Amino acid sequence: MKQNILIVDDQKANLVALEASLAELDVHIFAATSGPEALSILLKQSVALVLLDVQMPGMDGFEVAALMRQRAKTRRTPIIFLTAINKDDSYVFKGYESGGVDFIFKPYDPFVLLSKVRIFLELDLRQSQLEEALNKLRQLKTSNEILLRSVGEGIIGLASDGIVTFVNPAAEMILGHSATDLIGQPILKSVIVTAQKHDEPMWTESKIYRACSQGQAYHTDVAVFRAVGGKMIPVEYTASPTHQPSGAFDGVVIVFKDITERKKIEEKLNYMAQYDALTGLGNRNLFNSALNNAITFSRHSHQPFALLFMDLDRFKQVNDTLGHNAGDLLLKEVSHRISDCIRDTDILCRLGGDEFTIIINGKAAEQASQRVSEKLISSLSKPFEIFGQELYIGASIGIVYFPGMGEDANELIKNADLAMYQAKHEGRNRYKVFDHGMKAQVEESMALEIDLRRAVDNCDFFLHYQPKVDMRTRAIVGVEALIRWRLGDRMVSPALFIPVAEDTGLIGVIGRWVFETACKQMRQWQNTFNLPDDFRVAINVSVQQLQDHSLVHELIQIIRDTQVSSSWLELEITESLLMERTRENIQLLAAIRDQGCGVALDDFGTGYSSMGYLAQLPLTVMKIDKTFVDDIHRPQGRAIISAVLALARGLNVDVVAEGVETREQADELVRLGCVHAQGFYFAKPLSVTDVEVLLQECFGNRSLVTD
Ligand code: C2E
Ligand code: MG
Ligand code: MG
Repeated sequence: MKQNILIVDDQKANLVALEASLAELDVHIFAATSGPEALSILLKQSVALVLLDVQMPGMDGFEVAALMRQRAKTRRTPIIFLTAINKDDSYVFKGYESGGVDFIFKPYDPFVLLSKVRIFLELDLRQSQLEEALNKLRQLKTSNEILLRSVGEGIIGLASDGIVTFVNPAAEMILGHSATDLIGQPILKSVIVTAQKHDEPMWTESKIYRACSQGQAYHTDVAVFRAVGGKMIPVEYTASPTHQPSGAFDGVVIVFKDITERKKIEEKLNYMAQYDALTGLGNRNLFNSALNNAITFSRHSHQPFALLFMDLDRFKQVNDTLGHNAGDLLLKEVSHRISDCIRDTDILCRLGGDEFTIIINGKAAEQASQRVSEKLISSLSKPFEIFGQELYIGASIGIVYFPGMGEDANELIKNADLAMYQAKHEGRNRYKVFDHGMKAQVEESMALEIDLRRAVDNCDFFLHYQPKVDMRTRAIVGVEALIRWRLGDRMVSPALFIPVAEDTGLIGVIGRWVFETACKQMRQWQNTFNLPDDFRVAINVSVQQLQDHSLVHELIQIIRDTQVSSSWLELEITESLLMERTRENIQLLAAIRDQGCGVALDDFGTGYSSMGYLAQLPLTVMKIDKTFVDDIHRPQGRAIISAVLALARGLNVDVVAEGVETREQADELVRLGCVHAQGFYFAKPLSVTDVEVLLQECFGNRSLVTD
């Protein structure tokens, strides 16, 4: 912007001359012919310099100068007096007193005038630049102050010795202290809680000082500040150094934030990441870190620990048939029961679904883990009441010990899982301690599962029939259908593949095929041979099949389709398995019994049927397990068999002794009062052709008889 010059002279000609002399300057020139005119211009314009004629009619130059000095705006405006008269000193002094700064005497040398004017213009320029810079500085100061006061973050200024010099309102709010309480106090004593051991923490040893005195900022998001009343507040802060113009370390500005809320959210997120929402138990994340900790601890302390892997036996069925709400409720109940079986120091987690893990620490971890497993199995096999329904589940547990059964977490988990799989495979509701031979076994049964699926698709099964005899007459009173599977050039035992079929659900298709095949066979034999009225074919039914609610319906359909009379049929159910879902099973068996089929309790003596429970079962036959027959030469063995016979008589149920292999056994059984038996001594399970030869011998051909 151009600078302004005001020239004042009562002589117009002088003004013109003056303007001409100043023409080469890049300025704006205002001209006035009298003092009042000059003053009125000065009211509106700010000027860099006034060239002022002293002698003017009315108000002379000195008066104008005096009035200019009275106004703030023009007080410091430089004036050059122009005068033709008197160079005497007192006159000049009068000019200086009135605030003028220079004199030029007429007639003036234009060169002198110009250079003087230039000097004043230059001074004015500097002056206004300085003012501008000052203004900017003031603005900056106020806006910085506003900023410091209005930010949400707490700001504390420190001198280089760690004494508080400034506290913004947000800091006052967060800490509950007023600025005056804190200013003048050492920051380490009044606000920052340090980990330094001394009673009087040393400022020069603090992390803030060490970083800032080196010109670096220090940041932490895990600090604690002391607020009013000694309350501790978690904070995140950055301490930055401030410097003198010389660059020397001058102090510190700490900008901090109260992170109480964030900490709470973090804790919640952390909790959620570690715990299972349904049961409140640790989840897979927690389990993984707990297991790794246990390994590390065990390596240092040389104390062993045990890891239990547990899977519920029939959880999926509950979930599928009763819905997820029932499943959730059951899981909660299960987690309570598990918690009741373990100690506080054991770590229980739910990995998801129906999988639970327990880590048991301590010198006696091995014995403790087996004791806990027994307790768990017994506790979880008791009925659960969910939505008014009585449910039976049970659990299979795999156990590994550290050290010895795995080098790291992965291997331990894998081996515990193998042991659990093996426990399931051996009939569930039991625990298994890992051993190194298991891997091969499990791989074998996995391979078996694949083969079994193929066998089901191709229907690679056939039935053998083992005769049941009256030991007194040796007459055949019936047969038991036993499934056979030929895999390539070998036979696979049903004792091996039936559990796999049960595990995989394949038992449904297989069982249906057995039932239908046996019914057709019976129909055909009835047509062919002159069988007695009470001749029966016994068909093994897995308890797994009983859980299929459409079973009874399907059996009725097959009986109808094959036109076999249901009184020719007997279903065999294994005792130990039957125990598990008592009430429902009783109803199902009653429905089967109502159809006219016989119901046999297989392998009797291997389960733990209570007398009350036995009395409720709609049984027609009890089959004494082979283990008792094997023991018949001992007094205890005989005592048990006598007791079973007495019980059966009381319940009005027939008895069949299983697995009779010798004549002595048969004789002893007869002597004890047992009539019916099955066993290699009388006949092995036979092919259809071989059975037919026997039936022909015993009963003769029907057509021959009728003919
Ligand atoms: P189980 O129902 O108790 O059948 C009797 C088992 O004992 C048969 O074995 C039979 O061959 C065997 N056995 C009979 N007499 C003697 C003897 O004097 N000595 C010896 N050592 N064994 C004898 P198998 O056929 O291997 O069947 C084993 C088990 O597999 C059966 O036990 C039964 O629980 C199951 N099973 C067989 N067929 C089926 C079927 O079609 N469906 C279902 N669900 N299970 C079946
Ligand atoms: Mg049987
Ligand atoms: Mg049996």
